[in-house]
Amino acid sequence: MFLASVLLAFCSLITSGQPLVVAHRGYWRTEGSAQNSITSLQKAAQAGCWGSEFDVWLTADGVPVVFHDATIDGIRIEDTTFATLMNHRLQNGEFIPTLQQYLHEATRWPLCRLILEVKPHRNAKRDASISELAVELVETMGLASRTDYISFSKDACKRLHELAPEAKVAYLNGDLTPLQVKEMGLTGIDYSAATFDKHPEWPLEAKKLGLEVNVWTVDGEEELRRFGAMKGIDIITTNDPDILIKTLGNKK
Ligand code: MG
Repeated sequence: MFLASVLLAFCSLITSGQPLVVAHRGYWRTEGSAQNSITSLQKAAQAGCWGSEFDVWLTADGVPVVFHDATIDGIRIEDTTFATLMNHRLQNGEFIPTLQQYLHEATRWPLCRLILEVKPHRNAKRDASISELAVELVETMGLASRTDYISFSKDACKRLHELAPEAKVAYLNGDLTPLQVKEMGLTGIDYSAATFDKHPEWPLEAKKLGLEVNVWTVDGEEELRRFGAMKGIDIITTNDPDILIKTLGNKK
């Protein structure tokens, strides 16, 4: 019954031509959840999101972990060992998940696409290391066919594309035209709402080049309706996936 309702939500979004829904840092604006927690992935999948986005950092001793900020409780993740990180908790009391733990949970939710963001690390070498470890884990866990990659780092995007040429890789930083992104060999632009307001021609320009277009982070019913109606937008990344799913449903 539950699976059927999720399938229905998924199929109705696919066939309606409306943007697909990605939960930003998982679905965390809901009871018992927290950004980038295992629970946020479960909640995104249960809510019927097409995909769930999450952020990946590499600890000082080389463990990929899922977390947004560069620091937690004042300590820098890149400078901290994994064991030390385990002294800290997310807002819902969970431990910071390793990427392996997070992907393991994802194997239980086969209808939810994974949008893996490689955070910009200290230098190109570390950008390459985290990209290599992330792609290897995704492939080892059998998730390559439903994992897309995104990054603000040009170096990470290039490396991800080299490592996983079949995968979708989108650039986040908004400072390249669709043509420049296409020329890098990437498959999409994943730009802020403000970037598209500044360059309203970019979504359709990108579509003509065969790029996928994702907009972040669009919250609240009014903005979700505005971007939901914008031509050329394939995907909306939101902190309010429940409102977006309801909004898209209401338009049918
Ligand atoms: Mg992110």
